[in-house]
Amino acid sequence: MPVINRIADFETEMAGWRRDLHTHPETAFEERRTAELVARLLGSFGIAVECGVARSGVIGTLVGSKPGAPAIALRADMDALPIEEKNGFAHASQHHGRMHACGHDGHTAMLLGAAKYLAETRNFAGTVHFIFQPAEENEGGARLMIEEGVLDRYKFDAVYGMHNWPGLPAGQFAIRPGAVMAAFDIFEIHHRRSRRACGDAASRHRSGRRRGANRHRLADDRQPQHPPARGRGGQRHPDPWRRHLERDPR
Ligand SMILES: [Zn+2]
Repeated sequence: MPVINRIADFETEMAGWRRDLHTHPETAFEERRTAELVARLLGSFGIAVECGVARSGVIGTLVGSKPGAPAIALRADMDALPIEEKNGFAHASQHHGRMHACGHDGHTAMLLGAAKYLAETRNFAGTVHFIFQPAEENEGGARLMIEEGVLDRYKFDAVYGMHNWPGLPAGQFAIRPGAVMAAFDIFEIHHRRSRRACGDAASRHRSGRRRGANRHRLADDRQPQHPPARGRGGQRHPDPWRRHLERDPR
């Protein structure tokens, strides 16, 4: 895929932003340093900025130089995960127990790069809103932005978001109609060994001993690494996934 040369010129700068964000990961609704960096850079590009949207979100607005009134929004998420980083490279996380393991540092840097390019050229008609969303990881940052009226205060015809997918070859995008990656679900599988399968005393004994170990719970593969997250009332449920279901029953 050909890359617009002017954006390619930003590569070193964008890599620097990404590594800075990776070094200082912040989890849901705690993206204060990240938001400050985003707001400062947007401002330096000449883009109007609103901070504190949905606690730690940032929205930039840029009007093009050509006549016309269409408006779109480009969206990136900013939060990291409560995971201890084991990497040893120079920009590894300096925040104990936090890591940009989902690539939102890259998303933020990419949207900053797009904002810098569009602000430099303004070679478009209408308005672009740059939405830097907090708390994508299970905590409903987008929902809070909507509840705070972002879709009413910022009028746009479409919003575009994306998520990295390491399994795809570089330079390729995957899209599909309708919703994708808009929610997660969990489920429990309980299985019990059939009595008829335990044909002798020894196997019955083993089955009895193992009864307590035969109950498994399968969920998102990140489940063991998620500590209990804070709910709206400030309470912590001992099980973050159960807490999520209680707050958002389906
Ligand atoms: Zn993610």
